[in-house]
Amino acid sequence: MSVFDQFGVSPIINAKGPATRLSGGIMRPEVSQAMVEASQCCVDMAELQAAASRVIAAATGAEAGYVASGAAACLLLATAACVTGLDPGAMARLPDTTGMKNEVVMVRSQRNFYDHAVRAAGVKIIEVGLPDRYAGAGVRDAEAWEIDDAITERTAAIFYVADTQAQPPLKDLTRIGLARGVPVIVDAAAQLPPQSNLKRFITEGADLVAYSGGKALGGPQASGILCGRRDLIMAAALHHLDHDIHWDMWEPPAALIDKSRLKGAPQHGIGRTCKVGKEEIAGLLTALRLFIAEGDAARHARWLKSIHLIASRLSSSAATAVRIRNEGLVECVPQLELTLQGEHSAAAVIDKLRRDNPSIHVDPAERNANRIIINPMCLHETEVELVAERLAAVL
Ligand SMILES: *Cc1c(COP(=O)(O)O)cnc(C)c1O
Repeated sequence: MSVFDQFGVSPIINAKGPATRLSGGIMRPEVSQAMVEASQCCVDMAELQAAASRVIAAATGAEAGYVASGAAACLLLATAACVTGLDPGAMARLPDTTGMKNEVVMVRSQRNFYDHAVRAAGVKIIEVGLPDRYAGAGVRDAEAWEIDDAITERTAAIFYVADTQAQPPLKDLTRIGLARGVPVIVDAAAQLPPQSNLKRFITEGADLVAYSGGKALGGPQASGILCGRRDLIMAAALHHLDHDIHWDMWEPPAALIDKSRLKGAPQHGIGRTCKVGKEEIAGLLTALRLFIAEGDAARHARWLKSIHLIASRLSSSAATAVRIRNEGLVECVPQLELTLQGEHSAAAVIDKLRRDNPSIHVDPAERNANRIIINPMCLHETEVELVAERLAAVL
């Protein structure tokens, strides 16, 4: 039985990884427990965010940190912070950015569905570079000098989507950002593991970095981390926090918000829509601690155990080639790759598993290559056996 049964919703088995569509992953009992305990008393939210800032700063090497309702929410806060700085009037006017710096420079090949969160702050994305996939002449993607060229007095930020293949290298962009006085925002939502990526982008000079709380960190699905420069995190906090309080009564924690730098308190900002509860913050900080304590090697071994169990039930045959990806790479997520051959269609098998009871969701990203990918990140120990059984039966 699950809590969802009373609503007539059947739990599914998530062998795809932490997708929002599939409700993310399964939290560790310690994380759930932290959320339950948090729900049983009240705190001052600014004070809790200041405490989160200290924990996140220690984990990332950044000056400060903040928690919002997801990495996408953090990108909206980050962009808004870069547009308005600490001006409460400008904060109150967003997403109307008339008269403000309202352009964000971005490599065209990095455009993705999540950049809607950046645009939601009221900025226009200025695309740079042409990743030519058609003429055969496209040996280069955007280059650092092109980013430099695109910066004007209207540029609020440079936006960079981190990935192992991302070009140009982040260090080249942060050098330009520093020289031109333009902050660099990094979307690192799905860049964990490796654990070293918690510090990497800040070390490489990023001004603000966003991570999902609900992906590999194992925190609440509706949580995300923003870390970076103290003044920008202060601006993000001002966009986000509820300021329904008299100015003379308002004593925000100085480590998060330096009241002396403000001419007044902003009204509810654009980030108010990215609200996060004390439960999410307590859960996320607990998950972050457990993520760091576990380490890449132990985490990889835990995931690999699930993959091995499933693989042991599926021997390669004329119909299916079985391969384990990232088996020896502890900084990556191990995955099971099943390549179907001959008449057998990956799309049909994926549909069959999905229509099963319980419904099993695998990763369909490579179905056109007739491949099924199994990701172990969101599989409960008790579900691994069932996935192995069902796959063996269907294949
Ligand atoms: C998952 C993801 C996001 C959104 O993260 P949430 O925590 O779900 O808001 C943003 N950018 C990229 C690249 C992602 O993979």
